[in-house]
Formats: sequence, structure tokens, C-alpha cells
Amino acid sequence: MTQQPSPFAPNDSSFRDDVVRMTRELIRIDSTNFGANRARGEREAAEYCAAIMSSLEMNPEIMESEPGRATVIGRFPGWDTSAPPLILHGHLDVVPADADEWSVDPFGAELIDDMIWGRGAVDMKGMNAMILAVLQHLHRTGQRPRRELIVCFFADEEAGGNYGAQWWVRERPELFADATDSISEVGGFSADIEGQRAYLLQTAEKGIAWLNLTSVGAPGHGSGVHPDNAVTRLAGAIERIGRHEWPLQYTKTTRDLMEQVAEIMGVDFNQDDPEPQLKALGAASRFVGSTLRNSSNPTGLTAGYKHNVIPGKASATVDARVLPGDDEHVLQTLRDLAGEGVEIDVEHQQPSIEVPFSGDLVDLMVDSIRQEDPDAVVLPFMMSGGTDNNALSRLGITGYGFMPLRLPADLDFPALFHGIDERIPVASLTFGCRTLYRILEPGTR
Ligand SMILES: [Zn+2]
Repeated sequence: MTQQPSPFAPNDSSFRDDVVRMTRELIRIDSTNFGANRARGEREAAEYCAAIMSSLEMNPEIMESEPGRATVIGRFPGWDTSAPPLILHGHLDVVPADADEWSVDPFGAELIDDMIWGRGAVDMKGMNAMILAVLQHLHRTGQRPRRELIVCFFADEEAGGNYGAQWWVRERPELFADATDSISEVGGFSADIEGQRAYLLQTAEKGIAWLNLTSVGAPGHGSGVHPDNAVTRLAGAIERIGRHEWPLQYTKTTRDLMEQVAEIMGVDFNQDDPEPQLKALGAASRFVGSTLRNSSNPTGLTAGYKHNVIPGKASATVDARVLPGDDEHVLQTLRDLAGEGVEIDVEHQQPSIEVPFSGDLVDLMVDSIRQEDPDAVVLPFMMSGGTDNNALSRLGITGYGFMPLRLPADLDFPALFHGIDERIPVASLTFGCRTLYRILEPGTR
């Protein structure tokens, strides 16, 4: 350790112009990801970030998994050379936006009522801009973060990261060498719990199991007496799976969250009835509700080709979302529900993750929030979907979802993810920059 932390606390004007400009410029690069390796604009977005990273002497590298599927990565030196690097990461792609449904151009990045409107404002070009604006401020003022930073902006997060984080973790694990933990989306936003502002720090993600079900039977003429019908068999399996009521099941994260919400409400938590706590969480319950149990939703059915022909085969797809440590149990339950004569194959599986709501980095995140918003509390939560932290977890990297945003109490933030009229308040972005800056424990050079 050669340098000392600086107590210097920046204000909004240290970041405002940069974070607003970069958020808008990134939104104007249409980097829509349609899935199945169909995407556009990631290369341009990567070049945009790389140009800024170059100006910060970060030696960015743009890497493509497939033509156009660009990811950019660079390092920013820290002042404590004995500390392991910290990864800050975002994704460059966005989900599609249908302009007809929007009240503004989804790629226009208009500034209306002190909010930036556009696809990616919250998911997650705003956070990318926050990261870059904080690094720019450090560089401009001759400061360094305590820990060396590995900064990555990945392709393809919105389609599971096969051409982004998952690819680079598999093909170039040395890029992330020595890093012990990472910070990215989705947690960190504020929620109003009966008048108490709480920031939800994401410490867990449900796992994903995309399943293919296949039933076989005897093919035959549609006019016959035919007990061995693949369609009937599959329909029964899908009905049982779709109607299955998964029991409430708490993990360390969700129990902690529910108990702390109950405490804020001044009541005891009744684990058989989480509804009062979900109600108190308001809009955030959209994220939290489905993390209290496993789920298995049928999403597709395929069988047959002619009215009077009984096909020998029928197939279906099921999207199962699995709580930490429950993969085997869920698969076995689904096999039992499917019954005889229906095969279940796993097409895509992403493990759940759950990391402790404790330790130095968590303390830093909590303290940084408290310094910027002294009356707030910070609570752990689990995401029902996956993020790129999942790919990094394969390297043993502890990932947190922490995109610090102080939001107006009446903004339905979870609905803005992949939603229509996605937008972000400028004041939330500058709050995020101030908080991220603190987490990095800057020191003067
Ligand atoms: Zn995202």
C-alpha cells in the first residue's frame, strides 16, 4: 500500500455532464439483441466505450466472439497493489423496442423532465455511463481507486451471454485473472417500504433450466381407437407441470430480506404468508415475488401435421427457474410430474448463485449508500433472472448486483426493465456516480 485514501467527496457537478452525455450517446447507438446470434450495434457501442477507455489510458481491447459481437475490456490501475482486482462490468446490448408502443423515439435519448428516455436507460447503458463517468473523474483529478479495476462491457447479455460473458469466461479466463469479486446490474436501486427508503443489493440469482419434453407413442390413423397417443400423453404432462404449485421456500437471501422488511413494518415475519411483505415492497415485489419458490412454466408445444394422422412424437418446452441448491430436486419433481413415456432433456442450464451479504465489499457498498443517503437501509435480494455475474461465477468470482440509484418513490422501476418508455432520472445517475466513486475508495496519486 503506497497511497492513502482521500476523503474528497465529489458533488453532482463532478459527474453530471459526463454521465448525461454518455448515457444519451450510448442509447443513440441502437445495439438491439434479437437473440440466436442476431444483433446489431454492439461493435459501435464497444468502440464508443473503448475510445473513452483509451483516453483514460486503460488500453482497452475490443474482442469479437462472432463478427460484430463485440466486447470491450480494459484495466484501470489501483493504488493498493496488494489488493486483488475488482471487476466492474456492464452489457452493451439492449432488448428490442417497438417504436409504435413508445411515446418517444426509443433510440432518441430525449431529455424530458430531467429524465433520459430510451431503450437501455436502466438496462443498462445508464450504469455503463456511470462507470465511465466515475473513471473519467478519477483520471481527470489524478486519483486512483484502491483496487485495480477490470472494466468490461459485454455483448449478448440479453440472450444469455453465449456470445459475450459466457464466451470470454470460457475462451479467455486469463482476462479476469486474480479478480475476486464483481459489481454490475441489477440491484442497488431504491424502493419505498412504507415510507422507509431501502436499497436492494443483489446477492443471489435464480438458476435457469430450459427443458425440452418429448413424448412418443404409436403413430396411426386419426379414425382409430388409439390409447397410445403421443399428443395426449404430452398434454397431460404439460398440464401437470404448468399447474404444479411449488411450495414457498426461503434461502438465506430471501429470508433475510423478508425478515428485514417485516422489521421495517414493525411486525413479525410469518413465513407461511409473505404477502404483507411483498405488498410493502411495492413495485420491487415484481422482482422479489418469484424468488420465494421454484417455477416451471410451459412455453411451447409442437406436434402433428395433419388432422387425421396421429403423430408418433410430440414435444414441448418448459422454462424452469430454480432456487440455489435445488437443481436436482426440481428436475426430479418435473420428471415425476411428466410421468411415463415423456423424456425431459436440459437444453440450457445456468446455475443459481448466492453470495454472502457480508464482507468488506458489502460493507463498502452499504457505507457508501449511507453516506449519500443517511436515512436509508440496504437489504439483500435475489433476482429472478440471470445476469453476467453468472458467467463470472464459473471462475469463482463473487458477483453483486449493485447499480446504485436513488429513485423517486412513485417510479415503477422494475417495470422499466425491458419495458415501454424506459427512462432514468438524471438525479439518479449522479447519485449513482457519487456512490460508485465512494465504493472505489479513491486515493490521490
Ligand atoms: Zn441488463
